[in-house]
Amino acid sequence: MKKKKVYVVEDNEKNMKLFRAILKLIPDLDIFEESRGDLGLELIKSGDPDLVILDIQLPEMSGIEIYNELQKIERFKNVPFIAVTSFAMKGDKERILAAGFDNYVSKPIKIHEFRELVQKLLKV
Ligand SMILES: [Mg+2]
Repeated sequence: MKKKKVYVVEDNEKNMKLFRAILKLIPDLDIFEESRGDLGLELIKSGDPDLVILDIQLPEMSGIEIYNELQKIERFKNVPFIAVTSFAMKGDKERILAAGFDNYVSKPIKIHEFRELVQKLLKV
């Protein structure tokens, strides 16, 4: 079976650890990680993701900017994206959905809910 590739761009090490732990509960995934927005964009562009998880507040380049850049490239148009942001940021949800993201989760991440969303989007 072909492994599914999940790309995560997150600058908070604690959250990255949590994402890693949740994703490891799902069999046959390859996880690719980056903490800086601009480097995350390059990593994703050079890869072949089945799912992209983007923190919104990132150094150098925001998750929304990464998303906008990738939407200009045909092969990323059918890739599912999950935007992740802090619950404390008022108006973020509206801004993120307006940017075109279909999926949005807020921190603190709820493990069960997040895992189910990932599995739904990956169809595993
Ligand atoms: Mg962040």
